[in-house]
Amino acid sequence: MTTALYQVCSQQLFAGGCSIVQCPLRHDAKFCDICSVVCLPDTVYAAHIRGAPHRAKAAMGRDIALLCEICQLHLTGEAIWVEHINGTAHQSRAQATGRSAAIYPRDPTRPTAIFCLLCKRAIDANSWSSHMHSGAHQRYQRNALHRSRFEQAEQDQRGVTVSDPNGGLDFGTVSLDESQRGLQRQLVVTLHPSASPVSITSLLVFTGTVAGESPYVF
Ligand SMILES: [Zn+2]
Ligand SMILES: [Zn+2]
Ligand SMILES: [Zn+2]
Ligand SMILES: [Zn+2]
Repeated sequence: MTTALYQVCSQQLFAGGCSIVQCPLRHDAKFCDICSVVCLPDTVYAAHIRGAPHRAKAAMGRDIALLCEICQLHLTGEAIWVEHINGTAHQSRAQATGRSAAIYPRDPTRPTAIFCLLCKRAIDANSWSSHMHSGAHQRYQRNALHRSRFEQAEQDQRGVTVSDPNGGLDFGTVSLDESQRGLQRQLVVTLHPSASPVSITSLLVFTGTVAGESPYVF
């Protein structure tokens, strides 16, 4: 399971299909949004969604009770929580108390426990840091991060379109040889006429491996 991500086609996994001719990556995978797990091969997905852990997480879904300890506010569901912590009321309260607005929700039934939205369970505050380093949590986090990076990479940002004259920004699988020689690709950056001027200050490359971002020269 841990080595599976880079072998799996992200297009297939997160965008619902792959249109790359002769894509060498695996397409027999399915992603469970609720659990942030990759089911490989996809035939295990059916068993996964019938399983108790998935059912418990799905049932919890929209109804998770969460507490914002800065605002002392009870909130229901992850989406509402995310909206709340990004909202101006929460942000200014956090600022007024000299705390970071980016906090984890508490469990309202047990305010000494932090609710892990990825693992969908309450963790005692004393064990929180060891929880964050646990294998299970890290795996969920890696999958969730992989997905959000993929989604960001797919989106055109603020009127800026990046394309490759040969079609597609997906560089496919880069062999070890190629990566040692250095891979050269030409990208075209187009700015929509109505977009405000931009300058390129950095470039992030979405890689299918879990090793992180590639060093990039341009
Ligand atoms: Zn593919
Ligand atoms: Zn699931
Ligand atoms: Zn708040
Ligand atoms: Zn967790």
